[in-house]
Amino acid sequence: MDLRQKIRVVDDFPEPGISFKDITTLLCDGPSFQSAIRQIADFGRPRAIDLVVGPEARGFVIGAPTAYALGVGFVPIRKPGKLPGVTIRKDYQLEYGRDGLEIHADAIQPGQRVFIVDDLLATGGTIHSCIELVERSGGIVAGLGFLIELQYLEGRKKLAPYEIFSLIQYE
Ligand code: IMP
Repeated sequence: MDLRQKIRVVDDFPEPGISFKDITTLLCDGPSFQSAIRQIADFGRPRAIDLVVGPEARGFVIGAPTAYALGVGFVPIRKPGKLPGVTIRKDYQLEYGRDGLEIHADAIQPGQRVFIVDDLLATGGTIHSCIELVERSGGIVAGLGFLIELQYLEGRKKLAPYEIFSLIQYE
């Protein structure tokens, strides 16, 4: 099954010069969605994963079914102010201003092996923040999984030496 042909590439979205990879066209095709999740879960399975962690919002769409396929729990990482319990927070610099991500402080037990999953690896900034939150929680990052990798943005370099799996690559 050629999953790549299920991705819709929209030029100049959300701003001029950006070539946006739209995964909704893959998600709405049942066999493609199932095949994608199976392959990401297959990467995680031999790594003795205890939990899958995914960032808001598309990381939920890929991460939660991956956790289900592996028979492990799912932990969301969200924008600040969305999680009701005590949180650990990571702030980061944007081109204009600052933003952040949060995880529940009690979601990961020290020593648990965590598979971090998102829809797309671009510069790696989002996942870098997620790794920091997992490690500050005491978790061990046992792998990183993505539907799509934009290789020309070299996120993989930023995330070395973590083990990375991506299903579809754009050079
Ligand atoms: P990074 O932090 O630069 O690696 O960007 C990755 C994040 O941006 C992911 O959470 C994606 O959901 C989002 N993202 C960046 N580019 C695209 C795109 O072309 N399609 C869909 N999501 C994107």
